[in-house]
Formats: sequence, C-alpha cells, structure tokens
Amino acid sequence: MRALTLVADRKLELVETPGPAAPADGEVQIRVHAVGLNHLDVWGFRGMAFAKRKLPLVVGAEAAGEIAALGAGVTQFKPGQKVVMYGAMTCGHCAACTQGRDNLCENVGGIMGFHLDGFARDLVNMPARLVVPVPDGVSLRDAACAPIAFGTVEHMLFDNAKLKSGETILVHAGGSGIGTAAIKMAKAIGCTVITTVGDDAKAEKAKALGADHVINYKTDRFEGVTRKLTAKKGVDVVFEHVGGEGFNGSLLCLKRGGRLVTCGSTAGPTVTINLMQLFQQQYKIFGSFGCSMRNIRDSLFKMATGITPVIDTEVALADFERGLARLESRQVFGKVVVNF
Ligand SMILES: [Zn+2]
Repeated sequence: MRALTLVADRKLELVETPGPAAPADGEVQIRVHAVGLNHLDVWGFRGMAFAKRKLPLVVGAEAAGEIAALGAGVTQFKPGQKVVMYGAMTCGHCAACTQGRDNLCENVGGIMGFHLDGFARDLVNMPARLVVPVPDGVSLRDAACAPIAFGTVEHMLFDNAKLKSGETILVHAGGSGIGTAAIKMAKAIGCTVITTVGDDAKAEKAKALGADHVINYKTDRFEGVTRKLTAKKGVDVVFEHVGGEGFNGSLLCLKRGGRLVTCGSTAGPTVTINLMQLFQQQYKIFGSFGCSMRNIRDSLFKMATGITPVIDTEVALADFERGLARLESRQVFGKVVVNF
C-alpha cells in the first residue's frame, strides 16, 4: 500500500509499504479516502523540538474512509461502511475516557500523524471504539473535516463557551477552516456573528456564509469596530485561535462576564494580560484542544442537515505538501482536503 511519510523535518516521501496485518480483536481495518489538513500538520511538517516522536512517521491527523475488514468481536460496523477516525490514540478506560471526555484522556498515546503514524496511507487498523459512522448523504470529503476541524469547533462553542441562540459572537479569522465552521454553526442556532478577515475578497465570502458583520483587520481595528457594532456593550463570546497581539483586543471585545474560548496561537503563544481587567470584568477564558467522540458524531449529524464544511482546495496524496502550502497561504478560505 501507499503511505506518505515524513522522513525528516520538511521532507515527505510517498512510499510503498506492506499493508497492516488483519485487524485484531476489537479493531477495524479502514481504507482511507480523504485526509483533512490542519495547522497541526504544518507544525508536524516543520518539526517541533519538544514533540516526542520518531521518524519516519506517516502523516495525516484527520481522515475518513470505509471499513475494509472487521476484527473479532466487532459487530457495530459492516464492510464498505463510511467512517471517520478519532485523531488521538486514547486509552478507552481512564476516568476521562469512560466519562466521554476523550480529549482529557489520562494515558493518551499521542496524536495520529503527529506523534504516531497517521492516516495518509491506503489502509489503517484502528480500535473500533475510536471509529464513528458517517451518516447517509455526507461525502467522505466533507466527513474528513469532522474529527478535528468541526469537532474542535463543536467542543469550543457548545461544551466550553456554551454559546446560546440569540447571543453575539466574534469569530476570529473567519476564512480559516475552523473559522468558516464556527460562522456556520453559530448562524445555524440564531446567533449574531461578527468575524474578522484579512482582505476584501474574503469579506464577501464570509458574508455569503451568513456572517452579519465582517471586519477587515488589516484596515480597521477589530476591537473598535466590535464595540461600535455592539453599542459599546461587547460580545457574549469570542472565538479565538490567533493569539499574539490581538488577544488583548479580543478581551476588550467581551461584555462583562463574557466568554473567550481559544484553541490556537498562530500569531504567537505568549501574551500579557491585565488581571484587574480579568477579574473586574469577570471574563471566562477557556482553553480548548481537540474534542470528544460525541462532538464528532454531532458534527457529522450537522453535516447531514446541511451545515457542511467550506472546502477551499482538494489535492491528491502526492500533493500533500502543496496542500500544506495552500493552508499557510493568505488566500485560503476554508479547508484543504487530500483525496486518494
Ligand atoms: Zn483514557
């Protein structure tokens, strides 16, 4: 079978390798058809000094495919069924796992495609408990955006920030994979959505997705515009994944008692915050990483009802690196998916 492997920092090789053994008890074998790209893949490709991993490593953290074979004792799937896979090798038996808080697993073996061999290969064996069926009507291309992009947004908005109908939310980087998903999910429950983008072409696209107000952060200060749009009250929720210098601006956008949820720091991981502002304004700040199995099921269900991912580009397996470059480019609007 084919496997796309990282052999050194910034060096990928598409190699022929023997396929996996027959699936063991409790496992399924999956024929992978689509891999969604995320910033996690960019970090993995560049190399991170602190990441505990061994090269060569099969890349790909977010994927969809179909069941190729069943191990003993697996009755909930059938061959040919469309599925997605959880992006981390959780233990399945710690307190967090058994309570459905999978992304807080106490014995997690690592993230697929980052610490452990991932999904950019023709066949993979997975524990059946980490596999989720794809509902009818959802394409494998779209489903490949559920385990990380949609799942992360679902967990951020609804488990952490507890976003409710009628609230106002500021979504940062509305053209990103998770930004586009956040706009669509928030609009679907009847929120007012303010979003930031870096150019006017993206502003038009964000409006077409349903955003009520779009701010070009290159030409306007987003905190000033947001306060004006909310009659100086501020928003209920800020959806953050940028960090850096904009983080304090995001706090200024919150109303008293508002919630900020963050899952990223693409513009820089270190900020200084004013603690007096934090406690006097009674802000709630949530760090969010990954999602639960339930978030993936809910994401796929939403896709089946029409809340589908925005796809920017589809590339072939051999063009994975070009897909990463597209993800990093300023033109990207939505998800980049690798098909094979
Ligand atoms: Zn666990």
